[in-house]
Amino acid sequence: MKVRYSYLKQQFSNCDDLWKNLKKFVLTEDFTLGKPLKKFEDSFAKLIGTKYAVGVNSGTDALKISLKCIGVKSGDEVITAANTFVATVGGILELGAIPVFVDCDDTFCLDVNKIKKKISKKTKAIIPVHFTGYMTNMPELMKISKKYRVPIIEDACQSILGEINKKKAGTWGELSAFSLHPLKNINVWSDGGIITTDNKKHYQKLLLLRNHGLIDRDTVKIPGYNSRLDTIQAVVGNWILPKAKKIANTRIKNANYYDKHLSKINSIRIPNRPKNFKIVYHLYIVFAKKRDALLKYCLKKGIEAKVHYPKPMYLQNFLKNLKHKKGDFPVTDAHTKSIITFPCDQHLTKKQLDYVISTVKEFYKKN
Ligand SMILES: *Cc1c(COP(=O)(O)O)cnc(C)c1O
Repeated sequence: MKVRYSYLKQQFSNCDDLWKNLKKFVLTEDFTLGKPLKKFEDSFAKLIGTKYAVGVNSGTDALKISLKCIGVKSGDEVITAANTFVATVGGILELGAIPVFVDCDDTFCLDVNKIKKKISKKTKAIIPVHFTGYMTNMPELMKISKKYRVPIIEDACQSILGEINKKKAGTWGELSAFSLHPLKNINVWSDGGIITTDNKKHYQKLLLLRNHGLIDRDTVKIPGYNSRLDTIQAVVGNWILPKAKKIANTRIKNANYYDKHLSKINSIRIPNRPKNFKIVYHLYIVFAKKRDALLKYCLKKGIEAKVHYPKPMYLQNFLKNLKHKKGDFPVTDAHTKSIITFPCDQHLTKKQLDYVISTVKEFYKKN
């Protein structure tokens, strides 16, 4: 049996209504900052529960422009998670700022107990990464943010509709970044990103920053970027966004099913699942003994399992000027050897889930 990782074909195989919308849209000539974009932004803000949302051209730009919006500049320090995806770090570096890493814990999010030591006079922002669809411990992080007066920008790119105590990802920070990349839970047909905020001043500045700083066609108020979310992608977004809750809930159902069965295997450890967290499983990750052999076995059996990631960001060559060495972030390091990701998306069948479970069981019986 094949358990593929990408489900984009399934997601968009039955979307005649979307094609109809696109055909209609093309004839409006409304390609740049068009009406469907505003509609998408309003729906997104409503879904997350913020006053405003601003579409930009990627999740990376959502982070970069959020940092720019609060005045982060060259030489400033920005605290983030050592195990994150390159985009978080890229957004920081693009402004000339310096990423300061904090180790994660077994929820794959940064360990808020380790932050205080990293705060300095140069710290201008903290970016908690809600990695895999888990949530960073935001109640604790908000206390630290208040005490040290360092603003929070959430990297919510993997965690749309994630929650702690019923409060959603994207509503805690001063600004929050989401990605609409085809690999993310809410995907469009190319790159895309969106920023949420409750702050009107920030909102107005974001509108300028993403569009060259232009107030109108002939007046540039501030230096900005060309980072508009394509209106054609907003048309796709308007089609998929009403499905967001169902997508999250199906992923949660699949993950719970995996948890229930995989937890019976001694060599598998399921991460802690706090009751007051809503984890939306952009990635379904567990800890596995003999991980490399298990991964190989799964691949041989047609299951596209993965590792997110085998080499942590802090050890990547492009950051060698930060002079980090292996062992600086021991939890992140340990994860690289023990984590495995199984497909968990909304288009998997029960047969496929059962096949993953039985294949893992079979592996440990033989090994
Ligand atoms: C996907 C992702 C981003 C943004 O990626 P884009 O491809 O630029 O949309 C940022 N942070 C994390 C953790 C991500 O997974």
